[in-house]
Amino acid sequence: MTFPEGWPDTWYARTAEDQRPRARLTGPAEADVIIVGAGLAGLTTALHLARAGLKPLVLEAQSVGFGASGRNGGLVSPAFAGGDDAIRKRVGEDQAKALHRLSIEGVEHLRDTIRELQITGADPVPGLLSLRRFDQAQDLKDHVEDFAQTYGYQMTYLDRKALAGHVTSPRYFHAIHDPNAFHIHPLNTLRAIATEVERLGGVIHDSSPVIDADITGATKRVSTPQGRASAPRIVFATGGYTGPLIPRLRRAVLPIATYMMITEPAPKLIATAIKTRACMYDDRRAGDYYRLVEGGARLLWGGRITTRAADPAGIARELRREMLTAYPQLADLRTELSWSGLMGYARHLMPQLGQMAPDAWHITAFGGHGLNTTAIAGKVLAEAILDETDRIKLFAPFGLDWAGGKAGLIAAQLTYWKLQLQDWWRERG
Ligand SMILES: Cc1cc2nc3c(=O)[nH]c(=O)nc-3n(C[C@H](O)[C@H](O)[C@H](O)COP(=O)(O)OP(=O)(O)OC[C@H]3O[C@@H](n4cnc5c(N)ncnc54)[C@H](O)[C@@H]3O)c2cc1C
Repeated sequence: MTFPEGWPDTWYARTAEDQRPRARLTGPAEADVIIVGAGLAGLTTALHLARAGLKPLVLEAQSVGFGASGRNGGLVSPAFAGGDDAIRKRVGEDQAKALHRLSIEGVEHLRDTIRELQITGADPVPGLLSLRRFDQAQDLKDHVEDFAQTYGYQMTYLDRKALAGHVTSPRYFHAIHDPNAFHIHPLNTLRAIATEVERLGGVIHDSSPVIDADITGATKRVSTPQGRASAPRIVFATGGYTGPLIPRLRRAVLPIATYMMITEPAPKLIATAIKTRACMYDDRRAGDYYRLVEGGARLLWGGRITTRAADPAGIARELRREMLTAYPQLADLRTELSWSGLMGYARHLMPQLGQMAPDAWHITAFGGHGLNTTAIAGKVLAEAILDETDRIKLFAPFGLDWAGGKAGLIAAQLTYWKLQLQDWWRERG
């Protein structure tokens, strides 16, 4: 691995096609727009602005893809982290539907980007199974019908017999198959988007944490340890890694840790449990998600959240226990590597997209559902910056609310434990 020191050892980093470090910012620089943070949110925005002829300057504290965007589960499916019911309660039926349509557009948009840029390392594989651990199916059938009618979005309900063609598990009773969702190698995808931004004239610097920012005047100015930059516009895309730079932004985003593990290669053993190449989501309230990678040779598994950094190896043991409740036949399958990453959550669980001062924008808090949503949010934000559409107004009800600080973190952890308890109650027996 040739990534800079400090990079987490992840399966994505070990298999990344492009590990090229970028130079840090030194001296003064000028641009049309400064973008702080080189995750999917920042780079998707940069891509759209560069395509429109602007020159973005992207400043990344570590290296492109260091954050959640380079180490996540890789599942790309419609919806936002907050879930449709909570969104409907806050903004009403029509706006909730409009937002859900955007989330579907995000899935399509990322698929198109991978195709247009010919990102072969993204290795997109179609299909998502949402799996149920208790014997109740009517709501699943209703959901499939509702989505077909409301959005023209086609999914299929699978009963236990149909499900047996995909997985061999004593725990799963029902499933929904979404053929439109897919899964990818997120780090390869992001790095290819970064290369395209540069090809279009954008500039990206690694190892360039923005440590000071003046966003009040017509010219926005930032400093890094060895450089400084100015531009008429600025975008903050710092996700769960948001620091104290802009106190209002920091107060609005809760960093929540989540975990992944990957098994040793054991294609024959894994095939006794999982036959499908689709990714899977355990539709519990506190659910896990997983998929086969390397052509079915390894199983990549994610789940759990903590509000304080925990040892990934310890959490991986919990994930493994969870895996064995679904697939006891995998008892001899060894975990090879585990890692964690930070997601940014707002109190309302929705992305925060808007303006903190004239021409000073933010695009944060995508939570655990960031692949489709960053893809569409970057586009919507670019449209607002370029004055092309006002679709950004859909996000106006989800402002930079105070996320509750330490009390917010405690509340998040308690809510998660409550959800785990509810899962246990529904699945007992
Ligand atoms: C383990 C894990 C699994 C996940 N699985 C999925 C999944 O399967 N499907 C899905 O849809 N979503 C998933 N998510 C969520 C998804 O990855 C995120 O929502 C999304 O990647 C957020 O993108 P971002 O650009 O906002 O943040 P990030 O990718 O975290 O990028 C923020 C960047 O800003 C940089 N930065 C911070 N402060 C500064 C500064 N002062 N100066 C310069 N740079 C700075 C950071 O170094 C970082 O690189 C998962 C997340 C994690 C952690």
